[in-house]
Amino acid sequence: MLHVDPTKKRPKVLIVGGGLGGLSLGMLLQQTDIPYENFERASEPKALGSAIALSAASGALFKQCNIYDEVVAIGKKTLALQAIANEQRRVDYRMDFSAQEVLGAIGHVIARPALHDLLFRQIPKDQIHMGKKVLSTDDQGDKGVTVTFGDGTSTSGDILIGADGAYSAVRQSLFKRLKAQNKLPVADDVPLPYSTVCLVGQTQPLNPAEYPHLLQDDCQFINTLEENKPWAWITLTTQQGTMCWSIIRFVEESKTSTDDKNNNPSVGQEWGPEAAEAMCNEVHLFPVMSDNESSPGLWEI
Ligand SMILES: Cc1cc2nc3c(=O)[nH]c(=O)nc-3n(C[C@H](O)[C@H](O)[C@H](O)COP(=O)(O)OP(=O)(O)OC[C@H]3O[C@@H](n4cnc5c(N)ncnc54)[C@H](O)[C@@H]3O)c2cc1C
Repeated sequence: MLHVDPTKKRPKVLIVGGGLGGLSLGMLLQQTDIPYENFERASEPKALGSAIALSAASGALFKQCNIYDEVVAIGKKTLALQAIANEQRRVDYRMDFSAQEVLGAIGHVIARPALHDLLFRQIPKDQIHMGKKVLSTDDQGDKGVTVTFGDGTSTSGDILIGADGAYSAVRQSLFKRLKAQNKLPVADDVPLPYSTVCLVGQTQPLNPAEYPHLLQDDCQFINTLEENKPWAWITLTTQQGTMCWSIIRFVEESKTSTDDKNNNPSVGQEWGPEAAEAMCNEVHLFPVMSDNESSPGLWEI
């Protein structure tokens, strides 16, 4: 928890990005009376993504911000991860997460849209500005920082936080400035590398008569690791009766966003619908498993 000296002028914080990171910071600042504003490029919150597995350690954050009960209500507790690593669907290992007595909480899996919605509701409406895409930032030293938006407007503050994702405009602006001053570390002067491509999604609520494992109290968290194939996929049951999933393809050689921009504009810099559809076509017949308590192994569902 942040502690603020009430006798000192409070710096105004500008948070760029209304994702989980930017909203979580806003929620924390809300507890402290530090003035802040959040700027998000999307015109409205979009229910995107799969599920987030929050470790037990995150319980303290939600308790401090008085939303722990809601987190518990919208999440499914994660007691274990089951993993399989072969074509026979045998459980290779189980990872026990049920360390409540050590960490003071248990971990939860929450559908990303549900967690985003919860965090979004913690920020007063007049402190989050939608449709504000940051194009550039200008550091004026002791005078603070100014950010300029795509709609031609700008705003100023004392502290700028870039919570605008992997291809952060705030970071790019900062790096450009540091490079011009010969202060950019060599390790940072390279295009962003990646070695996996991940496709995520969530089903509609499913019929529990057809998929009874959805009724289990704890999250059915299954990680399938194929042997000698460049694929791994995870499925998770949610409190809302859906299944969240993510599929990872390991690319042969580490790539960068610049490679992809040159070869395929729909991948890398921004994930486009054509690339997502192509990957869906490759993976849509992959088997989805469920834990089978009556015999050692996993069932295909
Ligand atoms: C659509 C999406 C779905 C995801 N799904 C999952 C998932 O299911 N499971 C999982 O474990 N992880 C998922 N992730 C990754 C996970 O959300 C991230 O690890 C985590 O959310 C990082 O949070 P963040 O706030 O730092 O960045 P992000 O979640 O990427 O949020 C960045 C925010 O900044 C905004 N933004 C970007 N550029 C600008 C700009 N120039 N000006 C203003 N705003 C800007 C974006 O619109 C976005 O809302 C997902 C990420 C995204 C973007």
